[in-house]
Amino acid sequence: MRVGLMTITPYLPIYRRSGIRMKRGAGSYLFDDTGKRYLDFASGIAVNAFGHSHPHLVDALKKQAEQLWHCSNQFVTEQMETFAARLVEATFADSVFFCSSGTEAVEAGIKFLRRYHYETGQPYRHRIITFEGGFHGRTYGGISAGGNDSARTGFGQLLNGFDRVPLNDIEAVKNAITMNTAGILIEPIQGEGGVQIAQLEFLKQLRALCDAHGLLLMCDEVQCGYGRPGSIYAFERAGITPDIATSAKGIGAGFPLGATLVTEKVGSVLPAGSHGGTYNNNPLAMAVGNAALDLLLEDGLFAHVELMGARLRAGLKTLQNKYPEKIADVRGVGLMIGLEPAGDARALSALLLAQGLTTSPTVTNVIRLVPPLNVGPAEIDAAVEMIATVLGE
Ligand code: PLP
Repeated sequence: MRVGLMTITPYLPIYRRSGIRMKRGAGSYLFDDTGKRYLDFASGIAVNAFGHSHPHLVDALKKQAEQLWHCSNQFVTEQMETFAARLVEATFADSVFFCSSGTEAVEAGIKFLRRYHYETGQPYRHRIITFEGGFHGRTYGGISAGGNDSARTGFGQLLNGFDRVPLNDIEAVKNAITMNTAGILIEPIQGEGGVQIAQLEFLKQLRALCDAHGLLLMCDEVQCGYGRPGSIYAFERAGITPDIATSAKGIGAGFPLGATLVTEKVGSVLPAGSHGGTYNNNPLAMAVGNAALDLLLEDGLFAHVELMGARLRAGLKTLQNKYPEKIADVRGVGLMIGLEPAGDARALSALLLAQGLTTSPTVTNVIRLVPPLNVGPAEIDAAVEMIATVLGE
């Protein structure tokens, strides 16, 4: 038995923390308790979609806090009705299940996917095809579905029923389909997996396979979706729609909020009581969600994301040409960008932090750059400049 692996603190030391104490945030910047300013291109791991303390979001939260915090799902609220209706209007979905995090949104999606087949007379269809490098959260459902071994180690018996195949390998997907297959779960752009992009043709082929075999397609867009790809969802780029999609992170723009979006076909067979959670549809979360959706749907936002993403990628490509021995790859879509260093990503991220730029390293040795969607060109240029300085040293 291993005891005393690390010094314990009152808050469980289960995260790799920098030791910096953050005090406040404003726009694209964070400030620590010494007053040092950081350009925040980690955005709380792709969460602060509109930067810090956006006045429209602060206002919505303050107003709601004075009205109603919580009332349970015995009741409906206007905020919930409005938010769900607006999401249905803006997306492929016919109905939305709200929760508080990405892993809960995925867990709900996995349950809905399996329950659909049970309710439609095919309970033997319970297996789900997932992808190597995929990340779907930290519940037993999430780690069982995910492709990351380090997230699974030491937790005993996992959930049975996931068949993992390589990303972008359609033959492997075809070979994995059996009479027990219920559906396919994919991140159209893998986040934790190191900004690995599912080819658009591959996504189309997955949709076609699902249609041909009576499977459900579930897209986990917790990280890659909600404006970051320059559209609401990344699957839109392939011209397809899933049967189930998940959102979190950006949907609450910093407030804990997740959502599982479903088509009528899926939503209409789920009986009341088959899933739920005490805090789901929390009025504070619904109010912030509505306000964040106002910002997401503002004219020109998606074009801005494309433009800023292209500017950042171009800056990084220039650095890659200058330092080919230091940067192995630059890739991404919209404002979801991966910088793959030739050396250690965590070490580079720490140097960038010291320089005043926050970034988010992944377990796959890639640095994620996921600035707020409303980031400005001067901030993009400043980030590239800081990366140039660190690489130059
Ligand atoms: N799904 C994806 C694609 C994610 O990137 C994440 C988190 O990084 C999750 C699910 C889990 O979300 P959360 O950490 O909010 O539970």
